[in-house]
Amino acid sequence: MERKRTIIAALDQGTTSSRAILFDGNLEPIGMAQRELTQHYPAPGWVEHDPMEIYAGQYGALAEVLAQNSLTGADLTAVGIANQRETTVVWEKETGRPVCNAVVWQCRRTAAICDAILRDRALTDTIRRATGLLPDAYFSATKLRWILDNVPGAQKRAERGELLFGTVDSWLIYRLTGGREHLTDRTNASRTMLYNIERLCWDEDICRALNIPMQMLPEVRPSGADFGTADLGGVRVPGRGGAGEQQAALFGQGCVDEGDAKNTYGTGCFLLMNTGARLCRSEGGLLSTLAATDGKKVQYALEGSVFVGGAVVQWLRDEMGLISDAADSEYFARKVPDSAGVYIVPAFTGLGAPHWDMRARGAVFGLTRGAGRCHFIRAGLESIAYQTADVLRAMEQDAGGRLSALRVDGGASANDFLMQFQADILNRAIVRPRCLETTALGAAALAGLTSGVWKAGGGAARPAVDRRFEPDMDPQRRAQLLKGWEKAVSRAGSWTED
Ligand code: ADP
Repeated sequence: MERKRTIIAALDQGTTSSRAILFDGNLEPIGMAQRELTQHYPAPGWVEHDPMEIYAGQYGALAEVLAQNSLTGADLTAVGIANQRETTVVWEKETGRPVCNAVVWQCRRTAAICDAILRDRALTDTIRRATGLLPDAYFSATKLRWILDNVPGAQKRAERGELLFGTVDSWLIYRLTGGREHLTDRTNASRTMLYNIERLCWDEDICRALNIPMQMLPEVRPSGADFGTADLGGVRVPGRGGAGEQQAALFGQGCVDEGDAKNTYGTGCFLLMNTGARLCRSEGGLLSTLAATDGKKVQYALEGSVFVGGAVVQWLRDEMGLISDAADSEYFARKVPDSAGVYIVPAFTGLGAPHWDMRARGAVFGLTRGAGRCHFIRAGLESIAYQTADVLRAMEQDAGGRLSALRVDGGASANDFLMQFQADILNRAIVRPRCLETTALGAAALAGLTSGVWKAGGGAARPAVDRRFEPDMDPQRRAQLLKGWEKAVSRAGSWTED
């Protein structure tokens, strides 16, 4: 009998779209379909998604990519999921119907709940120690608390076992398996602020303190594990891998050894470093979290996020009108030898890691009469690299080692000027893979490894390199530029009164 060709479907459920990408046995992408996801903003600072649209869009994208390639579910070896993290869904166990819209990771509606937690020093310490996170509206726990408080009868129904909680992966698994499975993986659990990353279980103390009924929490499995079988048009396809998108990208970049790190240059920047079996606790404002592994092995990661990365280029385009296309930023930045002393600090929503200054605001420093459009654009791109350098410095201090090369992905990593400047400012090599779909690649690699398509390490081998950028800057000049940046950041700090 002819041996079935390996085809793995990666479901990449992101904040703005749901994509399905098919990979062959060499982890080469062979097809992709995408559905946009509607963003709902019911009040200032609130962000919601319709969970049924998430599911329908994700299922639709998968059906489309299969049809485009004249395939059916029967041709698939396995399915892997990578998803937007922290976003919270609550649904009825009996019907699978959501009780309200999903509360998205960006949503700040629970800031007051977090302030109350932060006033309780003992609880804040417990959360830090158990989950590796700092209490913040970003994580799922207070979003779940809000739903239980605000959907009529939800707390009582949850206590009776009638309602289930899940991050987006759990929700998709529940729907795809026809309600047979209520599961999540460790990386997603580690972003809920309810999961003990040392003991690898839901934390009873935190659940009690927040009055979260534990029977509504999903069972947690390693990222490379059996996640039931998905019903695809009457065919059952094994679900074999799942991870939050940043951890999936770390795995997809082949960062599976202690000290490996990647930075994703999307709207924001997400820098993750694998710290191996070591749960490294940050002194410098970074988060500790679980990394995705293809088996029972437990690995941790340090994570630092920058709120405004590629978004500064969008700002230059949409608000300042200095470019008409994000990619043009490279052309204009190269037209000048330097930024003429101009620094842009894009602290539009405050500063994230490692500064954590919610009251910082965007600022431009160093303007002189000769400063022009190209200097401005160049300063915008340089700000992405400076912010990354700040996070990496904090990370190396926490991890106690020096990174030899930084792997990159995400939309803005296509910018060669930015990548070279990043290498120069960090004084180390930047490695950009050929396939920038590292999130989907990570999910596919996890699913393939768990299915036994490759031996451990095989599928997660480092993706093919597109380009390596070597540092090429005079150390004195680097020090001078960094000194200017430091000064600019400190002056943009604590800008708003409250
Ligand atoms: P996300 O997944 O967060 O939506 P993407 O990985 O798709 O983000 O990257 C999009 C971001 O990258 C946008 O903010 C855009 O401004 C920026 N970007 C895209 N291409 C370039 C480029 N060639 N140079 C600089 N920035 C870019």
